[in-house]
Amino acid sequence: MIYFDHNATTPIAEPAFEAMLPFLRDEYGNASSRHELGTRARAAVEQAREQVAAAVGVQPVQVVFTSGGTEANNLFVKGIAMRRKPGRIAIGAIEHPCVREPARQLAKSGWTLAELGADSDGVTRVSDLAALPGAQTAAVSVMLANNETGVVQPVRRFADLARGAGAVMHTDAVQAFGKLPVRFAELGVDAMTVSSHKIYGPKGAGALIVDKRLDLGPLLAGGGHERGLRSGTENVAAIVGFGVAAELAAALVDTYRDHCAPLRARLEAGLVQRGARIFGAAAERVPNTSYFAFPDVEGETLVIQLDAAGFAAASGAACSSHHSGPSHVLLAMGVEPALATRAVRISLGRGNSEEEIDALLAALDSILGRLQRMSAIAA
Ligand code: PLP
Repeated sequence: MIYFDHNATTPIAEPAFEAMLPFLRDEYGNASSRHELGTRARAAVEQAREQVAAAVGVQPVQVVFTSGGTEANNLFVKGIAMRRKPGRIAIGAIEHPCVREPARQLAKSGWTLAELGADSDGVTRVSDLAALPGAQTAAVSVMLANNETGVVQPVRRFADLARGAGAVMHTDAVQAFGKLPVRFAELGVDAMTVSSHKIYGPKGAGALIVDKRLDLGPLLAGGGHERGLRSGTENVAAIVGFGVAAELAAALVDTYRDHCAPLRARLEAGLVQRGARIFGAAAERVPNTSYFAFPDVEGETLVIQLDAAGFAAASGAACSSHHSGPSHVLLAMGVEPALATRAVRISLGRGNSEEEIDALLAALDSILGRLQRMSAIAA
């Protein structure tokens, strides 16, 4: 199978895997225990904290380990609500469900939810935030790169506006980390989400990076781990793997771009030649993501056919949720619902090659030819 679904998850990097192994068997100490085994587990967690911190340009104390991106996004949205009286939360209309759904939950408990629209290129509109009466906005969340289109969002501009109006600013950087240089301070945000399994680390680890002054309540109360922000015995092995993966991701960010950008250009030239429309192509995008639709071919159908031919891709409907139906991202961009159901995402990674792109294009030729013949017979 040729894997083209790296925005869903990535294979684990060998150094991350190797680093985890001792902590899955012999080094089983609880990082809170005072004996030697526990002390070694604590040292490993703190080393990983330093690695993640260095990868995004913060101090280790600013890294709050979580079980992944979903938890980190929930921690921001709900954690803010625990510490502030109800006000307005503004989020991008194209955010991942793990920002949208907790924000919708807040809207059921006295908060006002404002959705910031996107333009036809998939860029969240700064003017939508500027148009809101400032004083009531308590929190703003706009992602750094969209998981479906790969479009990079003007987070710094949102942050300047939000903080200027006294709101706290969060960005979900899950799909940007490892694909672009990500420096917390340059983004001007108060909190930022990252996830391990999107950067060649293990599943089950992630972090909310926070400004030290940010006052958040915890989702999980208990023994007071992670400075009281995330109680629960640490998943030491996953955190260790995350640390190594984060260090690698930051070190390889230029190599990653130089590898993926020409591959995507080759892919998209072939797709356009075959009649596809590429979503977000006019905007700045992370270098690995291509989101497209062929007229008259359902996205789900194409993904199933590609799978049968040995290629792992994602359809628009499956990109970000378990709900079927057209992607909310494409609808927010003004794409007609019928075309939105045709969307397919190819997300490249470190291991993909030119030969694999050419093999995919050849497979598309036979699949599209077959589907056209079938629809001609049906008509
Ligand atoms: N945010 C974005 C933009 C994502 O693409 C994802 C994963 O699909 C998440 C958050 C959730 O991260 P995790 O899978 O670590 O919970």
